[in-house]
Amino acid sequence: MTYAGVVEVGGPADVRELPDLVISKVAVGSTNNNAYLLRCRATDEQLLIDAAAEPQTLLSLIGDSGIASVVTTHRHGDHWGALAEVLGATGAHTYAGAYDTEGIPVPTDVPVADGDTLRVGRVELTARHLTGHTPGSIALVYDDPHGHPHPRVSHVPAKPWTGGRVPPAGWPVPPAGPRVPLLRLPRPHCPQGDGEWHRRARSPCPRPAGR
Ligand SMILES: [Zn+2]
Repeated sequence: MTYAGVVEVGGPADVRELPDLVISKVAVGSTNNNAYLLRCRATDEQLLIDAAAEPQTLLSLIGDSGIASVVTTHRHGDHWGALAEVLGATGAHTYAGAYDTEGIPVPTDVPVADGDTLRVGRVELTARHLTGHTPGSIALVYDDPHGHPHPRVSHVPAKPWTGGRVPPAGWPVPPAGPRVPLLRLPRPHCPQGDGEWHRRARSPCPRPAGR
């Protein structure tokens, strides 16, 4: 079946099958967050992006083979609500953007900077630090050697600071570097294509109380 990237809470995952990587996207929780399970075809190693909510849904998607790591794309609570439970069941290592680790209540094993390489089996992903939304939001880009870059193997937060907005007082300002404004990332190549991209970019991202 053709991948469309359309998922709903309570429904099945949508699966994108690439030559070296399988990406399963599922919607979870009251805020309809997406989690992504990446599996290296060569080694069957798995990586979960955003243990957002519904730990049992995520653990059943993960299956018996477990996961090596969990990446949290940013500090807002709707992106790590099931992280402790998933780690308890899998013993995975945790990754998050270096500037957001302080805002995630589950310890981060590996703080991630822009340009860092993350691996799932033999597949390499590049972390991109996104300007805006939180100090340490990251996206993961998979540059498919058999195709084109896939920037949407993970959640990309809405509400960037670009366009003149100023980070809230007290938030660390990342050092100068190749930070990537949200909408300059290459766009996904899928039947929904730009439509999904822009819809997600415009939609609000729920924040925990007090943010
Ligand atoms: Zn958010």
